[in-house]
Amino acid sequence: MTIAFIGLGIMGSPMAANLVKAGYDVVGHDISAERVAQLESGGGKGAASVAEAVADADVVITMLPDSPQVEEVAPIIVAHGASGLVYLDMSTIRPETSRRVAREAAAKGIRALDAPVSGGERGAVDGTLSIMVGGEPEDFEAARPVLGALGTTIVHVGPAGAGQTVKAANQLVVGGIYGLVAEAIVLLEASGVDPVAGLDVLAGGLAGSRILDIKRHTMIKREFAPGFRIDLHHKDMGIAVAAAREAGVALPLTAQVAQLVAAARAQGHGSLDHSALLKVVERLNT
Ligand code: NAD
Repeated sequence: MTIAFIGLGIMGSPMAANLVKAGYDVVGHDISAERVAQLESGGGKGAASVAEAVADADVVITMLPDSPQVEEVAPIIVAHGASGLVYLDMSTIRPETSRRVAREAAAKGIRALDAPVSGGERGAVDGTLSIMVGGEPEDFEAARPVLGALGTTIVHVGPAGAGQTVKAANQLVVGGIYGLVAEAIVLLEASGVDPVAGLDVLAGGLAGSRILDIKRHTMIKREFAPGFRIDLHHKDMGIAVAAAREAGVALPLTAQVAQLVAAARAQGHGSLDHSALLKVVERLNT
């Protein structure tokens, strides 16, 4: 089976490598020639354009930064892909864009699924991503073996766009927890309480979370190498706020978190890890 992989960045590159390891023929394309060369050195094949990558593919995967890039690439996939092709967009984009892509693909006999991921670069490298999939159930079943080479938690969550809505919910929860852990650190330090001891207790009680487990020590030490960049989380909070507006619901805490992430970016921290929300809360207090 031949898989075309478009977007060989931080996430796409190790994901494509895992597909090669799983025995698929992978044809990759990226606007960065360096990224394509990296895939070739790992046993994949390079393509000079999206159209060339897609021409003989049974499955196409995109792992692109945001909605505009998917809007640019998806029509090329639809125009050049064979009828019956399974198209998995694994980027994090707006649910509305995913629904439109699925409609336009279906009109050409192409089976599009939105399949955003959670688990970060580590999960991409280890093949342990959580994957939330929106689309037709039979298309999900057709895609499942390929997704099995990329992740361990693979769930069909509803029709087209539902995967992106679940991802938006994931990102607003993650952003909110980072914001509150940052406030807890600022409170503990301002009160003269050792934040290491304090957060150890929180991590073991009802306030415990994966973020406290994995990130509390680096946050206290102010180590903010990414990880998941503030710039990308800013994009994702925009998606969450837009999805809420489209669904006709008010999410006041999400709006607050979106503003804190925007402040982190405005203060020049866009390329730092999203745990750098701590810098914004500190700045409010100094
Ligand atoms: P990235 O910027 O490292 O990779 C994107 C790649 O797409 C780049 O290599 C870029 O050159 C390529 N690209 C852009 N436009 C293109 C085009 N028109 N044609 C071909 N290639 C093109 O980003 P990433 O960190 O790999 O993230 C990709 C997606 O996954 C984003 O939507 C992000 O929100 C999501 N995501 C990222 C993480 C993470 O931890 N980095 C975790 C979960 C989800």
